[in-house]
Amino acid sequence: MMDDQLAHWIITRCVEFTKSSSTSYDPRVQVTTIQTLNGMLSSWYPDDLLEVLYQYGTLDNFFNDFIPSLELNHTQLLCQYSYQTRGLPVVKHDGSAMFVITKDITEFLPVQHVCCDLDKEIREVTTNMAMTNESYVHRNEIRSKLNTMLNNSWFNRGLQVSTFGSTATGLGTDNADLDLCISGPCFQPLDDPIKLKKTEGSIYNMTFLARKLRKIGMRQVKPITAAHVPICKFRDPRFKINCDINTNNLHGIENTNMIIQYMHLDTRIRPVLFALKLFIEAKEINNTRRGFLNSYAFILIALHYLMYVQEPPVIPCLQNLSLKSCITGTCNNNEKRTIQGRDVRYHSCIRVVNTMAPQFDSKTVSQDNNPTLWYGKNTKNVGDLILELFAWMSNPFNLVKPMSLTINGHVHLPWGWKGSQVVFPDPFDPDRNIARSCTSAGVETISQEFKLACDTLNKGLKFMDVLKPNNYAT
Ligand SMILES: [Zn+2]
Repeated sequence: MMDDQLAHWIITRCVEFTKSSSTSYDPRVQVTTIQTLNGMLSSWYPDDLLEVLYQYGTLDNFFNDFIPSLELNHTQLLCQYSYQTRGLPVVKHDGSAMFVITKDITEFLPVQHVCCDLDKEIREVTTNMAMTNESYVHRNEIRSKLNTMLNNSWFNRGLQVSTFGSTATGLGTDNADLDLCISGPCFQPLDDPIKLKKTEGSIYNMTFLARKLRKIGMRQVKPITAAHVPICKFRDPRFKINCDINTNNLHGIENTNMIIQYMHLDTRIRPVLFALKLFIEAKEINNTRRGFLNSYAFILIALHYLMYVQEPPVIPCLQNLSLKSCITGTCNNNEKRTIQGRDVRYHSCIRVVNTMAPQFDSKTVSQDNNPTLWYGKNTKNVGDLILELFAWMSNPFNLVKPMSLTINGHVHLPWGWKGSQVVFPDPFDPDRNIARSCTSAGVETISQEFKLACDTLNKGLKFMDVLKPNNYAT
C-alpha cells in the first residue's frame, strides 16, 4: 500500500489545483473533475500518477481509499450524479467523478429530499396540466368541420385532415395550438408543391385555402406561404383554439408517431418530456424567430439525452436496431417504408423490460403481437432525470456538440450547415438541420435558463417555481 505521507502529498497537490482552477460559480465550493486531475498529475507529476494507477487502478479508487482515512472533512469525492443531486451548485463537467472541496457539505440540501419530491410533483403536474378530454373533443370537432369543408370544396378526392404535434402526442396543454395536416390518396409523389402552391384552386395554395377557411367562419386566417412547409394559421371562434394547417407534409405525422412510440417504451418518458415542454414554453425559449429552438428540437434533444447521455441508457434508438427477431410481424421497420422519398422506418416492435426497476416498464400493450424485448437498467426516477437533463442543458458546450437521434458521436455535416450553432439532423431527413434557427446568443440564453432552473430546484424549491418569471434582482 502507498504510505500516508505520499498519499497526503498527492491529495494536497489535487486540493491546491482544484482551488486554483475550480469550475464552480459558487464561492462556497471548489470543484474539478477527476479527468482534469488525471491530466494535471500526468503532466506535472507523472511518476506519482503511475504509482497511484499501479496500486489502485484508477484515481477514483485512490481517493475513495484515502480521503476518509485522512480525515479531510472538507474534501469529497462525488460522482457526477451524486454531485448534482446533493444540491451543490451546477458546474461544467465531463461525466467523470467530481473532486469537491467545501467547508461544510451540510450547508447543502440532502439529495433524496429534492428528487423524491420533484419526482412526485412532476408526475402530478403531468396529470393535472395535460390536455383535458373536453379539449380533445373540441379539437376533434374542428377536424371534422374541416373534413366536411375539404370534401365540399374538392369533391371526391378522399381528402382528410389528421392531427399531429402536441395534440396527438399528448404533450400539449389546453392552450396548445392545434396542428393539422391535409392528406389523401390524390396526392402524387410527382406533385410539385412549389408550382402548385401558386396555382388557383390547388389544395397546396395556402391563399386559396385561407379563403375557404374564412368562408366557414374561421377567424384570424393568415396564410404563411414562404415557410419551409407553407401553412395557414387560423382561430376557431367557437372553441377559441389557434390552429396551423398544412398540405401533405406527412413527415410531421411520422415524427409525431415516432415520438408517441418512444413515450410508450417507458413510463418516465412522457413526464420528462411534458415537464421540459412546460419549461421551454414558460421561458419562451421555444421561439425560432428569436434565435432559439422549436419544441420539436427540444423533444429530440431530450430523447438523444435519454439514449446516449444517460448511463445506463433509459431507452434504445428505435431507428438504429438491427434485430433479426422482427422480420415478421407489423413492425414499422419492415419493408422499405418511404414517405416523399425519405426512409421513415423505425422499430414499433420494441418493449422495454427494466431488469432493475420494473415499475418503469411501459403498461401500454404493443401493437405488435411479438414484441422484441430490450433490457434496460436505468433506475433513476423522473425527478432525477429532469434534474440531470436540466444540468446537462445548462452547459452550452453540450448544446453546440452535434447531436443526433440515430448516431451517437460524429454527425456528418452537409455543406451549408457550416455556421449552424446547434446541429441536429431530422431523424427522417438527415440533410435537414432542425436546430438551424439557434444563434450563439440563443445557446447562451437557453443554457442560462436551464442553469437558473437547476439552481432553483437544487435549493429545494418546487418545479412550479421554476415555471415562474425569473427574478433577476435576487
Ligand atoms: Zn421491429
